[in-house]
Amino acid sequence: MIVVFLGPPGAGKGTQAKRLAKEKGFLHLSTGDLLREAVKKGTPLGKKAKEYMEKGELVPDELIVALIEEVLPEEGKVILDGFPRTVKQAEALEKMLERKGKKLDAVVLFEVPDEVVLERLSGRRVDPETGRVYHVKYDPPPPGVKVVQREDDRPEVIKRRLEVYRRQTAPLIEYYERKGLLKRVDASKPPEEVYRSLLEVLGDAA
Ligand code: ADP
Ligand code: AMP
Repeated sequence: MIVVFLGPPGAGKGTQAKRLAKEKGFLHLSTGDLLREAVKKGTPLGKKAKEYMEKGELVPDELIVALIEEVLPEEGKVILDGFPRTVKQAEALEKMLERKGKKLDAVVLFEVPDEVVLERLSGRRVDPETGRVYHVKYDPPPPGVKVVQREDDRPEVIKRRLEVYRRQTAPLIEYYERKGLLKRVDASKPPEEVYRSLLEVLGDAA
């Protein structure tokens, strides 16, 4: 069972994916998290990905597809969070699944207006020790927990990431709509409500 989470950066995909993974036994695969880990460890992939990520550009499709090939399990419930991000990646995913005799079950689109995305991204903070994500206003870190801001959550890079989303990733909305896979969720609501809508649209898939 494979579900894709689609939507602009800061829509709350990671936040919801972590909860769904914990409560419903999904494996949460975030290409963003995997890439940040690779950069931190200084692996060959990390070395190639770093400059793209810092600028808010997409990492080349071949690298991302190879990464997913490596981590996608044969069995079980999987959330693909932040992948695919281009039509090329979506086509590669389809072929990959076909070879394994599998298919996508649903693509959840996290719909949220730009001003909400901006507020969420500029207030996002991360605990570098645990990777736990906070928000200065909506989910403040407890006293004593030291948090940092992601390099790509600075205003200039946020702007570029939103442009990249619109140009390279948003075409996937129509792509998956045509395939009858797209489920829309109003992601501007508080986390609890978003989670409820998510369970509703996933139905038996969850
Ligand atoms: P994405 O994975 O889509 O980039 P995140 O899950 O990291 O987004 O969320 C972006 C920021 O918004 C984080 O700081 C998170 O704490 C906060 N956030 C997530 N969902 C909500 C929500 N429903 N309401 C308010 N803030 C949220
Ligand atoms: P995210 O954590 O999902 O916001 O991703 C952070 C950054 O990692 C993005 O701005 C891209 O540079 C890179 N990235 C993550 N997923 C992908 C993907 N599927 N394709 C290309 N680049 C990606």
